[in-house]
Amino acid sequence: MISPPAYPLPSPTARAPDSAAQPEPLSRGKRSVGEPGKYWPQNSILKIALYDYAMDDPYVLAVKKAASEWLPHINLTFEFVCGEDGDVRITQNLPGDHGGRSMIGTDAKNAPPYAPTMSLPADPGTSSFAVTVMHEFGHMLGAHHEHQHPDANIPWNRPNLDRLFDQSELQTNFRPLPRSDIYDFSRYDPDSIMHYSIAPSWSTDNTFHSRNAMLSADDIAWANKAYPKARHQPGPI
Ligand SMILES: [Zn+2]
Repeated sequence: MISPPAYPLPSPTARAPDSAAQPEPLSRGKRSVGEPGKYWPQNSILKIALYDYAMDDPYVLAVKKAASEWLPHINLTFEFVCGEDGDVRITQNLPGDHGGRSMIGTDAKNAPPYAPTMSLPADPGTSSFAVTVMHEFGHMLGAHHEHQHPDANIPWNRPNLDRLFDQSELQTNFRPLPRSDIYDFSRYDPDSIMHYSIAPSWSTDNTFHSRNAMLSADDIAWANKAYPKARHQPGPI
């Protein structure tokens, strides 16, 4: 059973056009959907403010644990801090709100100071909590939705979607991305953590796409490419 929104919805401001495309490294294959112009500086330390003073320890631990799934695959460091001063500022949704939202990469720098740049579900005890955190941190790192890949070709049931979502949400979270050089497209990856689960009624062929519960191989490949760790240098023979 899937109740929309099955996956978190980033704020519309997360999709502000950005023409600051960066050249792609030639030595690595393309993976997933990233926007290199919004990647954080390589090897930087991101100060991640857990914005809401009301967060209790189990909540903070659950956020850190899920977010840290990305860390083995990137060269960034997450520095979690209390308060409202950070590169990324996380707020906790009201009870019952199981969605989440995040700005894409460095769009967070354009947010008003002290305004949250990511919101996460209230209850860390739900089965979807870790998935939502990983998904939102993917956006924070500069990834877009995989189901919006231009090769996804999902036969959306527009009348049903129109009933379920407002036009802004449809534009931001469902419409296929243009084949623009600002994006780094790979092959379409239905297993991506950045892919929505799709209820049968959302598509004209009653496609059911279940929720992906972990980073896919291509998510990891994308992270490795976006934020490549220094390769281990072999010692003297
Ligand atoms: Zn999303």
